[in-house]
Amino acid sequence: MKTFHCTCGNKLFFENSVCLNCRREVGWCPACNGMHAIELDGKGNYQCTNCNAKVVKCFNYITYNVCNRLIAGSWQQLPAQKLCDYCQLTETIPDLSVAGNATKWYNLEVAKRRLLYLLDLIRLPYASKNEQFELPLSFDFKEDIEPTTVLGWLSLGKEEKVFTGHANGKITINLAEADPVEREKMRVQFGETQRTLIGHFRHEIGHYYWQLLVQGKDEAAYKAIFGDYENPTYSQAMDFYYKNGPKPNWRNNYISAYATMHSWEDFAETWGTYLDMIAVLDTADNTDLLQLPGEDLQDTQLEELLIRYADLSLKVNEVNRSLGLPDLLPETFSPPIVDKLRYIHRLIKKNRLAYSQSFNYTPARN
Ligand SMILES: [Zn+2]
Ligand SMILES: [Zn+2]
Ligand SMILES: [Zn+2]
Ligand SMILES: [Zn+2]
Repeated sequence: MKTFHCTCGNKLFFENSVCLNCRREVGWCPACNGMHAIELDGKGNYQCTNCNAKVVKCFNYITYNVCNRLIAGSWQQLPAQKLCDYCQLTETIPDLSVAGNATKWYNLEVAKRRLLYLLDLIRLPYASKNEQFELPLSFDFKEDIEPTTVLGWLSLGKEEKVFTGHANGKITINLAEADPVEREKMRVQFGETQRTLIGHFRHEIGHYYWQLLVQGKDEAAYKAIFGDYENPTYSQAMDFYYKNGPKPNWRNNYISAYATMHSWEDFAETWGTYLDMIAVLDTADNTDLLQLPGEDLQDTQLEELLIRYADLSLKVNEVNRSLGLPDLLPETFSPPIVDKLRYIHRLIKKNRLAYSQSFNYTPARN
């Protein structure tokens, strides 16, 4: 994550909607691609103090304060209730009449913005249903619906269990994941070292990119690294996993226990770890914790990135241990895992070029 500054000189963070020093309103300007202070121009419009572009706040910024992005244009030109490019991707929001759901939605949008920032940074293609795109991306944030019981026995209403997952471009996140207590319970139950909202987004987007970039396009190379996804089938693999647990000695070949379940989960888990690494390296580079060799992470050799990441891991893990906290970057990468990361590194590099050159795709973002 890049670092940004207000016109007063104070540092601005990606989540800010107001400068904590001068109280100016701030937001992500799509015209100059950054977090900047905005000021009213006397005609009811905002102006970016960095590039002077006319901007309006996203409807979700004005109304619910779950977004801090701006839209280029003036309120006279734009339709009322206009959503920003990122908010347009969210199709189902939580029931805001339920106490606590507004905060959960806020946390989900924060994590989603971090995900999309990273996709934009490495120039991975995606688009909403409003654009001509082969696999539109969308998000549903939903909670389980419990059956209504009257007098302890009569069941009324429809029960619905929400599964966090991806299907045909739609990423669904169960709202319980946005509750820190519930999430920690699940982390312990599944024996995970970390469980975060952003981790869910980075895992599920791995399934999305499998469908967009691998299916029917790069399957032979994929199978050579991640195995045959049709044998066993996903449902056979899932039954086996929940009956027998992860493969023994999984650390030699897999990034997590869950990755042993099926080829697709192996890909999504490794993809999520790859995005984690890129996000951490980008932040470390921008905050002078380390210096990356080139401007562009995808043009850097994977081996080079891994060396920098391992070096950083040693340092930040020691910082955490000095506070008695679990390791910040606990993963270790055995040679088979490095092969999987290298496949993903190349897949991204190949496709971001292919999409920008041959596909009629003009991202509305940076
Ligand atoms: Zn300021
Ligand atoms: Zn601007
Ligand atoms: Zn928005
Ligand atoms: Zn998955």
